[in-house]
Amino acid sequence: SAKASGKRCYEFFSDSLYVDLVWERETSKQLFTAIEEQEFTLNYQPQICLQSEQVMGFEALIRWPRSTPDRFIPLAERNGMIHGISEFVMVTACEQLKKWQQQGLNTRIAINLSALQFYQSHLCDSYSKIAAEKGVDPSLIELEITEGTLIKNVAQAIETITQFNARGFTVSLDDFGTGYSSFAYLKSLPVSKIKIDRSFIKDIHESDAEVAIVNGIINLAHNLGMQVLAEGVELRSQFDLLRDLECDAMQGWLYAPAMPPDDVTHWLNEKELALMPL
Ligand code: C2E
Ligand code: MG
Ligand code: MG
Ligand code: MG
Repeated sequence: SAKASGKRCYEFFSDSLYVDLVWERETSKQLFTAIEEQEFTLNYQPQICLQSEQVMGFEALIRWPRSTPDRFIPLAERNGMIHGISEFVMVTACEQLKKWQQQGLNTRIAINLSALQFYQSHLCDSYSKIAAEKGVDPSLIELEITEGTLIKNVAQAIETITQFNARGFTVSLDDFGTGYSSFAYLKSLPVSKIKIDRSFIKDIHESDAEVAIVNGIINLAHNLGMQVLAEGVELRSQFDLLRDLECDAMQGWLYAPAMPPDDVTHWLNEKELALMPL
């Protein structure tokens, strides 16, 4: 009977897979209304110059009360909601830049691009249009793409990055070191910055091997005319080491987590940190 075969089917699923499927279906449903209901916000994490300790800019990281971005962004890529979310991120980041400008806070914002939107043909046009409509100079927006995004189609990726550069945006390579064949294509990649993944920074203060790897990445990037930012710096000893290695910038809980925009203003006053001149 149908009931019996249904029961047999069920036995193929482990408990945790079943829980995942239920979570995915429920969360997917909630994602469809999340933009309309204005459930998303952006938090901003400062990026610090290692030599001057000035604030170079902020990375915008999306927040949703129901889940974390490493879980719901991949889901949004599967159910198609990523396009609406990405537009929300770009629009909100531009509006935040304008708000900060009105408060005399002149800085840059980096936003994360998803692989799915990156290979859309009109991405560059639509982002340029949003920047123009919001009155934001594209040179104040940095677009972060991951190595994983890049290797899906290196030739096309280079073309898209070149288009963005021509419009005045800057592009950086996020989570560097976690993908494959990192070094072969690096020389032909028109990105201005490499962000070394947190996994390489985590043990850098107690592992000579990690120091050697990070030192190699920094030298390579500098020889190619790129800047280097270290992600996930939590300890002063990591900060000092990275400065000695002549890494350009860092981001991490040592200075601040990603914060709501109002907290950013308080944080800047409290820490008495200067903004790097544009
Ligand atoms: P990511 O772009 O590599 O962002 C860095 C992640 O590391 C963020 O996690 C940040 O909160 C976290 N982090 C920063 N400093 C530290 C630290 O010192 N220690 C530790 N342990 N973690 C630190 P978050 O906000 O959960 O975001 C996770 C990922 O989700 C991001 O990785 C990015 O790939 C994606 N994501 C976040 N916001 C967006 C967005 O607006 N659009 C897209 N497409 N993806 C996003
Ligand atoms: Mg990022
Ligand atoms: Mg990263
Ligand atoms: Mg990441």
